[in-house]
Amino acid sequence: MIEVTASTVQDIALMSQSERLKGRPKICSDCGLCLSSYRPLMPETCAFVKNQTREIEQRLHGRNRKSGDELLFGVYRGMYATRLRQPRPGAQWSGMITTLGARLLELGLVEGVITTRAAPGTRYAPLPFLACTPEEVLASAGNKPCISPNLSVMDEVRERGIKRLAFIGASCHVHALRAAEAELSLEKLYVIGIPCTDNVAYPDLLRFLRVVSASPDTVVHHEFMTDYRIWLRHEDGHVEKVNYVDLPMGELDDVFPDSCLACFDYVNSLTDVTIGYMGAPMGWQWLFVRTEIGEELFRLIEPDLEFTDFFERGSRQKSNEDLIRILAMTNRKRTPLPIRKLIAFMQRRSGPAGLEFARSVIEMKLLRNLRHIRTKFPRHEARVIPYFVYSALEAYAPVYEKTFDQPLSQ
Ligand SMILES: Cc1cc2nc3c(=O)[nH]c(=O)nc-3n(C[C@H](O)[C@H](O)[C@H](O)COP(=O)(O)OP(=O)(O)OC[C@H]3O[C@@H](n4cnc5c(N)ncnc54)[C@H](O)[C@@H]3O)c2cc1C
Repeated sequence: MIEVTASTVQDIALMSQSERLKGRPKICSDCGLCLSSYRPLMPETCAFVKNQTREIEQRLHGRNRKSGDELLFGVYRGMYATRLRQPRPGAQWSGMITTLGARLLELGLVEGVITTRAAPGTRYAPLPFLACTPEEVLASAGNKPCISPNLSVMDEVRERGIKRLAFIGASCHVHALRAAEAELSLEKLYVIGIPCTDNVAYPDLLRFLRVVSASPDTVVHHEFMTDYRIWLRHEDGHVEKVNYVDLPMGELDDVFPDSCLACFDYVNSLTDVTIGYMGAPMGWQWLFVRTEIGEELFRLIEPDLEFTDFFERGSRQKSNEDLIRILAMTNRKRTPLPIRKLIAFMQRRSGPAGLEFARSVIEMKLLRNLRHIRTKFPRHEARVIPYFVYSALEAYAPVYEKTFDQPLSQ
């Protein structure tokens, strides 16, 4: 086992994918558990060794997902389009996550919050840490959109005798944390999640920014928005917008790690609350309250929130059927610019929007990742693909079977 110090975690944060994964199992998201003394629990907890969504859902909710939206969004008790009435400067959106983490500390409900700040000297390299004051949590606001070994901090939690903990992280962290929960000797655990997809190692993020932005070094904030564009805000305040269809994927095809291409939990479904944006109207956040503890968290932040209605427009069926056909193509050429411009215009005018946008992108990733497992890791399918994926994608079974000459279900 590596001895983990702040500087080892920082070194890891800066490493390339191949350096990080040397000597590890083939599919590894670097969740950090294996950097801690809890490493022996890895075979029982890692989402890429044995996915346990069914069992964990049963434990958390006493049931599994209902048909309909829960197949894509996970089990939830409440879903809100909301945001802080007073947005926090430096936050990714309005700052709901860090406000919640800070409040737990202010009220003495937890002794520590595992969150992610930027490694010194960088804007975006993630450095997980145990925050013990509200100010430390608030200072960790904003995405560091790279793979981050957040569970590596669990040894420090134990060494400091912390029994009431809040954890902020992505679904690969949360799967391992939930599967290990009984072994952690915690009295109370609050799990606050972000939706997450197609994450990258830090050097690959820098490469991505160089490819998509006219001025990569001045990007201070960026987000994949629901208007089918990436918005990149620069130091001088101007916002550069790049259409999704204009991303030169040929130059970026090795950028996503196998773990993200083997992830079936975009919405971080095993949390107490998940806070993202992609099902909400533009400018609003998307909050799921999933458990009783999630309701407690919601009550803590509710007085600071304003709410709006969800909406939906368009249909995802046709675009995802086209995606299946595209997945079957080899040596796909880049679409010419005038056609890309037309596609971008049509997507914004009549493509899936609102909740339908969220359903559309979640299904897209499920379809792509199912194909990735079947192509690259076929022997892993029964262990890595959770139970709900086949029912969630049932509407695509005829096109899938015709395209790949293989049933969609196992
Ligand atoms: C890599 C990544 C991909 C995402 N993709 C989507 C998406 O596709 N759809 C969607 O709806 N939402 C996505 N999100 C979540 C979204 O961008 C916002 O983080 C979320 O809505 C919270 O906003 P906020 O203003 O409340 O957060 P803030 O109050 O600004 O807090 C952000 C929190 O995220 C933590 N954090 C930052 N970087 C990481 C990291 N690399 N790993 C773990 N935790 C981190 C910070 O420590 C902080 O606690 C993603 C987030 C990340 C980090």
